[in-house]
Amino acid sequence: MVWPCPLRVDVYASLGRAVKVPRPRCPSCSRPVVFWSGYWRHVRWRERERKIFIPRVRCRGCGVTHALLPAFVLARRLDAAESAGAVIGQVAAAASGVRPAAAAAGVPYTTARGWVRRFAGRAGGLAVSFSALCAELGGEVVRPDPDRRFRWAAGAIGAAFTAAAALPGWAALGAWRFASTVTGGSLLAANASSPWLVIGSRRFMPPRSP
Ligand SMILES: [Zn+2]
Repeated sequence: MVWPCPLRVDVYASLGRAVKVPRPRCPSCSRPVVFWSGYWRHVRWRERERKIFIPRVRCRGCGVTHALLPAFVLARRLDAAESAGAVIGQVAAAASGVRPAAAAAGVPYTTARGWVRRFAGRAGGLAVSFSALCAELGGEVVRPDPDRRFRWAAGAIGAAFTAAAALPGWAALGAWRFASTVTGGSLLAANASSPWLVIGSRRFMPPRSP
């Protein structure tokens, strides 16, 4: 699970185990959960790697444990969601090729190329689900552009975020933390969760300051 963390990466990292995360409901059965240890992982942001603590929760009802990832990370990716988003956004806007976008984001070219390929491969599905999410949130209609799916998907994420930003708390998170949150961190995974599913199971919780 991803929670809509508004903290800067370095602030989150400096809190270590003391980071306070809003307690969610179990995504499987909606019953209360208890905090249940956690683990350390790395995140790279602005060319620096930091160690961050990821709390886990355990459901009292079904016994399942879930990691609570802050919205600035993507599941199984070292780099912050904003870095991937910056590269994807630049390429979508045709503002630059992958190489200059990678340099601007401070990530290796091969990493950026991997994000762009994965996003391109999933662009059609992402475009459709973020357009639907945008409509669900009362946003503007996203015009389908199946001949330019990469651009369509990036535009749909931007439009859905604009709609979400009208709700309390979301504006400060930015489009890519928003995208990470509603896909459960799977934006650039082989199989992404649809943001519809996330909303359907009421994981579209408003951001709160920890
Ligand atoms: Zn449960």
